[in-house]
Amino acid sequence: MAVRKWVSSLGLLVAGLVGVLVNSIVVYQNLQSLTQATSWVHHTLASERLMADLLKTLLRAESGQRGYLITSSQRYLAEFYEAGGSIPQKLDALQREVDDNPLQIARVVELRQAVTERLNEMSATILAGVVFSGEASTSVDQGRSIINMDVSRSILRDMSAEEARLLAERQAIYDSQWRSSVLSMLAFALTCSMLVLALFFLMRRENRHRIKSPTLHASQVVEIEKTVRALQIERNYVGRIGEINSFLQSCKSLQEIGSLASTFLERLFPNYSGALYLYAASRNQLVRHAQWGGSDSPEVVLPEHCWGLRRGQVHRFSAGAPVCAHHHGEAPEHDSLCLPLIAYGETIGLLSFVAQKGAAEDEEAFDASMSQFSEMAARQLSLAVANLQLRDSLKEQAIRDPLTGAFNRRYLEIVGEKEIAQSLRLNQPLAVVMLDVDHFKKFNDVHGHAAGDFVLVTVCDYIRRHIRESDWMFRYGGEEFVLLIGEAGLHEIEARVDALRAGVAELTIANANAVLPSVTVSIGVAVIESNRMNLQAALRHADRALYASKAAGRNRVTFAESVAEEVSA
Ligand code: GH3
Ligand code: MG
Ligand code: MG
Repeated sequence: MAVRKWVSSLGLLVAGLVGVLVNSIVVYQNLQSLTQATSWVHHTLASERLMADLLKTLLRAESGQRGYLITSSQRYLAEFYEAGGSIPQKLDALQREVDDNPLQIARVVELRQAVTERLNEMSATILAGVVFSGEASTSVDQGRSIINMDVSRSILRDMSAEEARLLAERQAIYDSQWRSSVLSMLAFALTCSMLVLALFFLMRRENRHRIKSPTLHASQVVEIEKTVRALQIERNYVGRIGEINSFLQSCKSLQEIGSLASTFLERLFPNYSGALYLYAASRNQLVRHAQWGGSDSPEVVLPEHCWGLRRGQVHRFSAGAPVCAHHHGEAPEHDSLCLPLIAYGETIGLLSFVAQKGAAEDEEAFDASMSQFSEMAARQLSLAVANLQLRDSLKEQAIRDPLTGAFNRRYLEIVGEKEIAQSLRLNQPLAVVMLDVDHFKKFNDVHGHAAGDFVLVTVCDYIRRHIRESDWMFRYGGEEFVLLIGEAGLHEIEARVDALRAGVAELTIANANAVLPSVTVSIGVAVIESNRMNLQAALRHADRALYASKAAGRNRVTFAESVAEEVSA
């Protein structure tokens, strides 16, 4: 239908253009003919003018001759010569004007002969009149001159009649050309107007067609609806992932991240169960931190059991693809996705999904969304986990002594006051224990600094293993340590501190090369039981008690005498 309309419109346009072209050729030819006809009319009129002028000049010469013969006045003689002298040129001009007409040319030749004879006769008469008296000659002259003059007049009359006939003929041609020119110009104007109108209507129809067209193409509507739906799904997913991200950034522990991930990912991909795994510190296995959607994922996954981890990219299990061993070595009933969690170039974990209940209504759109947005969620999760781990490791670096792994002195100042406040709140004593390795300078001198370091690490390790989880150990100075021991009565504190001392003294210190001599420690203890003592005062008391242990022979524990030192107000 549209093609037929288009063809008919094109036909109309071509017909209009051909009409305008033919019309313009006709107009051009008519104007050419009109110009030609005009020039012929002018030509005839010019010939008429020349003939009249010639006759007038001839008469002027004649009257000059007669006037001279009668009056002998030189004025008439001059007029005769002047008029007679110009006659040959006028004859030439007349001949040129009629040279397209052989009949008229023959007449001009005849006329030239008659006029020349007449002029010669008149000249002869004048000469005769000057030399002889003139009666007889005058009469002779008059007879001849009448003949020649009549011949001339007759020729001019014939010529004039011919020109008049030609003029009438040419005028008729001119009139007819003029009429056809006017008609062809009117036709031209009419054709042009019709063409303009045709173009106008064509353009209007085309515009209407364009405006209507969006509603006409059903396939386009379907395409637009599909795009809108895809955009809505995308907006929905992006919005939810943004929401997850804002929560993840505020998480303070991996446990928090795990529980958030399970809540949000279950809501985001309701047709998939899943699990979040993170690498253990040993990096030889991944430990499950969260699972959701009725997942029965194993607690631990070995890196070599997952194709996603091995290849460092998303692994989708569907028909034909290898199945990961962590799915109990069996192909899951439905599709599964393994997304390695990668942050800052390092693989830190695994996000695993298994389709549970089949696809959503629009399977194709759902699968595409799952692939795209699960990767987006995995990226956010990776960053959150990596940032938290980074934060933790920076914090650890800031509070721990790198050699022994004990907390540093700065951290004692932060933790100490809090622990004192808590013990007072619980109404329990808190022991500030200061411990110093005996004769350590000498040990270094004898066995070397590296052996000295090894001793420090071994002693520290021993103490860490023999204090409670709620107790604290800090490296206070080179070979000095501070312990905070709470949640125990005074007697228990005494017993535990002395057991530590004895344990260190019996410790076998052996590195890869040799067994080193054992070392002893001297200990000073200050117990805080009231809010009248702060951390600094307790440390001073413990230091004094330590000094007392040293002074008393080392390898012993001294309790600060009275814990009732008043805090200077
Ligand atoms: P005392 O029994 O009176 O405490 O004697 P001491 O030699 O242990 O005490 P002193 O204060 O004279 O010397 C402490 C030594 O501990 C000096 C120093 O070389 C050593 N030391 C401190 N920090 C370290 C460390 O990180 N590594 C090693 N290997 N030695 C250290
Ligand atoms: Mg010391
Ligand atoms: Mg020492």
